[in-house]
Order: sequence, then C-alpha cells, then structure tokens
Amino acid sequence: MENYMKLELAALGENEGFARNAVAAFALCLNPSLSELSDIKTAVSEAVTNCIVHAYAGAEKGSVWIECRVEPSAQGGVLHIVIADGGCGIENVEKAVQPFYTTLEHEERSGMGFTIMQTFMDGFSLDSGKGKGTRVSMFRKIGVEKERVDA
Ligand code: ATP
Ligand code: MG
Repeated sequence: MENYMKLELAALGENEGFARNAVAAFALCLNPSLSELSDIKTAVSEAVTNCIVHAYAGAEKGSVWIECRVEPSAQGGVLHIVIADGGCGIENVEKAVQPFYTTLEHEERSGMGFTIMQTFMDGFSLDSGKGKGTRVSMFRKIGVEKERVDA
C-alpha cells in the first residue's frame, strides 16, 4: 500500500506553521535530507499562505485541504502534495504564476509565491478559475538532490 495522509484545516494564519510542519513530519518517512525538507516546507508554506491570504479574502473563512502521497522510486521516493481551497479562485492563472505578479501589492506581497513553489519543487501545476477554488499540485523527488545554480 502506498503511504498517504489527508488534512483539513481552517484557513487561518495560526494554522500555517502547523500545515508546513505536518507535511514535513509526513515527509520524514522518505528519509529526506535537511535541504529537501526545507524546500518542501518553503513550498507548502507559500501554497497554504495563499489559501489563507487570498482565497477567502472579504468572505467567510473556509478550509484548506492538504493531501500527501508517497510514490516509491529506485532512489528513495517522490512526495506528491496537493493543497486546495474552496475560495474565490484565480481568474487568470497564466498571469498569476508570473514572477512579481500580485493582486495585493499594497500589502507588501512580492508576487513570488508560485515562482518559489516552482523553483523549490520538481513538479508544479495550478488548477483554478473564478469561483471554483484553487488546487496546487506539486511533487518533490527525495534522494535526488536538486541541481542548484549558485549566483
Ligand atoms: P507572495 O506570495 O510573494 O507574498 P502573492 O501571494 O501575491 O505574493 P503568489 O503567491 O505568486 O503571489 O500569487 C499570485 C496571485 O495569485 C496572488 O496575488 C492572488 O491574486 C492569486 N492567488 C494565489 N493563490 C490564490 C488562492 N489560493 N486563491 C485565490 N487567489 C490566489
Ligand atoms: Mg503568495
């Protein structure tokens, strides 16, 4: 049987740390390196923060759903993560994933969340639309260090 876990959380700021650390704790079953773990936490933090900050803005807060699944591989395994909300959704997905694009510039958002998720993970896709919520799917190979281009 493949390993998995599912969580539902209130989309409140105080749950961001819990979400990030819960996924990290689950990822330990793949025996990740510290840098792999740190990359996963960074990406999860960005996705969950988006649900908290953008999805239910101006409306009653709803839930964030997190699903993790382990796909075994020869090197170690692949951690698949889905982070979803039932909020307002994103009208223009292509625009939203561009670096520095934000609809909250007056609140000191840098518009780098989706770019960070894409950079820190090995796979990323975004499914959203106005009024239909948002679903971020990502995966990270464990046991295969990501190549880094040092500045
Ligand atoms: P940063 O992540 O750097 O603080 P940001 O959240 O604005 O800034 P991204 O995470 O890249 O930047 O998101 C880009 C834009 O996509 C957001 O400004 C917002 O308009 C929209 N967006 C992102 N996630 C969601 C979501 N879960 N629900 C609704 N809109 C979202
Ligand atoms: Mg963001």
